[in-house]
Amino acid sequence: MVSRTTDDYQAICLAGCAAVCEPAFWAGFDRGTPESFYNYFLQLTEYEPARAAKFGLPHYTWLCINPKEAEDPKLAEEVISFIPEFINKPNVLGIGEIGLNKNSRNELKVLEWHIDLAARHNQLILVHTPHLEDKLKGTKLIIDALKSHPKIKPERVIIDHVEEHTVGIVKDAGFWAGMTLYPESKCTPARAIDILEVWGTDQIWMNSACDWGVSVPLAVPKTALEGRARGHSAAWIDKVVYQNPAKFMRQCKKFKLPAV
Ligand SMILES: [Zn+2]
Repeated sequence: MVSRTTDDYQAICLAGCAAVCEPAFWAGFDRGTPESFYNYFLQLTEYEPARAAKFGLPHYTWLCINPKEAEDPKLAEEVISFIPEFINKPNVLGIGEIGLNKNSRNELKVLEWHIDLAARHNQLILVHTPHLEDKLKGTKLIIDALKSHPKIKPERVIIDHVEEHTVGIVKDAGFWAGMTLYPESKCTPARAIDILEVWGTDQIWMNSACDWGVSVPLAVPKTALEGRARGHSAAWIDKVVYQNPAKFMRQCKKFKLPAV
């Protein structure tokens, strides 16, 4: 939401959105200093929830140094060192989006630090998987890293940006799968419904890409319409767009939805 306008807030509220959660992500440029991350975490935990509250919308967030900026272990170590200061803020659900971008050694090291941080503080985890040709290999490396930590419970981890060739390995390993929706490239509404038709509606949710690239905050309701056009029931759609994310996020005691 830090990259969106007030018009976007209004549109998602009109579409029936009950709450938003946003991961710590890439700002469209590489931040150069630990202080810039510190200020970003203040934005995510204080300023953005206040902005969302003006529209009556609960705002939740995840914290980390995202994989796209995790190539410098010294910077990552400093950023990770002050994340615990923010973990108990009322809108923080966990650690994310951590993961891999280019599947490099440094990214993997920083991923392991984040996994350990989440385990020590008993936090939910949101994982970014690489795009395009790096996705399958990266997803396997991420699953290995998560599985090799003795304290990580797969049902408390969502592995995001799954596509047709990765959704199966994620779900079979016991993790939640996230489909990130884009208007044209990557996972479109039609592909997301295809995936649900093949793999079922358990242990999976979808989210709108809302970043500095071409993306639409209304991608989830648009995908609900795609499901309806194909003849799926209101209950089938509600499970995927509302019940599933609520079930996953309620594992964090701080997550609350407004009464409907
Ligand atoms: Zn991501």
